[in-house]
Amino acid sequence: MIYFDNAATTKPEDSVLGLAARYLKEQYYNPSALYAEGYNLHLELEECRRSILSHVADADDYSIIITSCGTEADNQAIFCGGRRGNIVTTMGEHAAVFAAATEAGRRGVEARFAQLNADGSVNVENLLSLVDGKTSLVSVMHVNNETGAVNDINAIAGMVKAKNARTLFHSDGVQAYGKLPFRLSGHVDMYSVSAHKIGGLKGTGALIKKKKLVLQPFIWGGGQESGLRSGTENVYGIEAFCAAAAERYNYGRHEVNYNRVRELQARMWELLDKSLFERISPGNGSPYILTVAARGVRGETILHMCNDRGLIIGTGSACSSNASKRNSRVMQACGIGQDMIDGVLRISFNPHNTIEEVEEAATILNEVVETDRELTE
Ligand code: PLP
Repeated sequence: MIYFDNAATTKPEDSVLGLAARYLKEQYYNPSALYAEGYNLHLELEECRRSILSHVADADDYSIIITSCGTEADNQAIFCGGRRGNIVTTMGEHAAVFAAATEAGRRGVEARFAQLNADGSVNVENLLSLVDGKTSLVSVMHVNNETGAVNDINAIAGMVKAKNARTLFHSDGVQAYGKLPFRLSGHVDMYSVSAHKIGGLKGTGALIKKKKLVLQPFIWGGGQESGLRSGTENVYGIEAFCAAAAERYNYGRHEVNYNRVRELQARMWELLDKSLFERISPGNGSPYILTVAARGVRGETILHMCNDRGLIIGTGSACSSNASKRNSRVMQACGIGQDMIDGVLRISFNPHNTIEEVEEAATILNEVVETDRELTE
C-alpha cells in the first residue's frame, strides 16, 4: 500500500509507539498526584511542553496549552480570543476555525471572512479592509490544508497590528508545524498545532500563546494547563507529541525533510500527464501537499479506483469527516471552475515516502484517470 494522504494523518513513528506504550504500561500515574511517581511525570510533562514550543517560538515570550487536538486549539483561540466586536478570518480556513467563527457569529460576535487568491492563500488587501477598531481577533491559517498555499503569517500579523494594535492574531499552524522552516514573530499571539500530522498520536494538540496574553479558561475544572484547559493530562500522547516533534526538528531535520519532500512533490508533478491533470497547488506553497484537478472525472471515483490498486490519496475536502460533502467551500473560494471542482485530488507527502512510491503512484493515477475518462465518454 502506498500512502499519500499524510495531510489527513500520518503513520506514527515506531519510536513514538514504543515510548507511548511505556507510558501506558509503566508510567500510568496521574501527574497531579503528590507522590514521587506522579510529581516526576509532572516535571517530565513540563519538559515536553517546553520542547514542543521551542521548535517554533522563544520560551521567554511564549507559553503552551496542551489540548486534545488541533480543532480544540483552534476553538480555544476563537472563543477565548474573539469575545467582542468582530472576528476576521478567511474563506480558506479549516472547518475547525471556519465553523467556530460562524458559531461565534451566532453568539453575537460578528464573523467576517476574507476572500482567497486562486491558489488558496488569503487576499491580504481584502483581509485588512475587514479589520477595524472593533476587531478583537484575526485568524489566518499558516498552510492551507486543501492547496498547500502558505500565508506569510508573521508579515500579515504585523499589518493587522499596524491597523489595530489591540487586535489579537491567531494562526492555525496544523499543516505547517514540523514541516516548514519558520519561527513565530512577536506579532502572532496564538498558534495551533496537532500531533498526528507529524508522526505523533491522535488525541493531542496544542495552542501556543504569547505569555503576556490573558485568556479565559476554555475548559474549567482541576486547573491543569495553567488553569486554561482543565483535565487530567494525556501523558502518553504528550510524550509521543514531544518525541515526534523532536524527530521532525532536531539536527535541522525539518530543513532536510523539506528539501526531500520538495523533490517528491516535483517528481510527482513531472510524471502526471498534463493532458489529464491541472495543478491547483502553487509553485511556492508547502511541498507536503500537491493538489491537482482531473477535468471531467469525479475525485471520489478516482480515489476509490486508486484505493483498489493500492494507492491512498485524498480529495479536496478530505479533512472533513463528512467525506461525501461535495464542492469544497475552499475550492469554490479559489474560483475553481465547475468542470474541475469535482475532480480535485490531494496528494500529500511524508518525509518517509520514496521516489519509487511517487513513480508508482503517478503511473496508477494516469492510468486510472485515463480509464475513467474513457468509460464516461
Ligand atoms: N487545521 C488544519 C489546517 C487541518 O488540516 C486540520 C486537520 O484536519 C485541523 C485543523 C484539525 O486538526 P485535528 O485533526 O488535530 O483536530
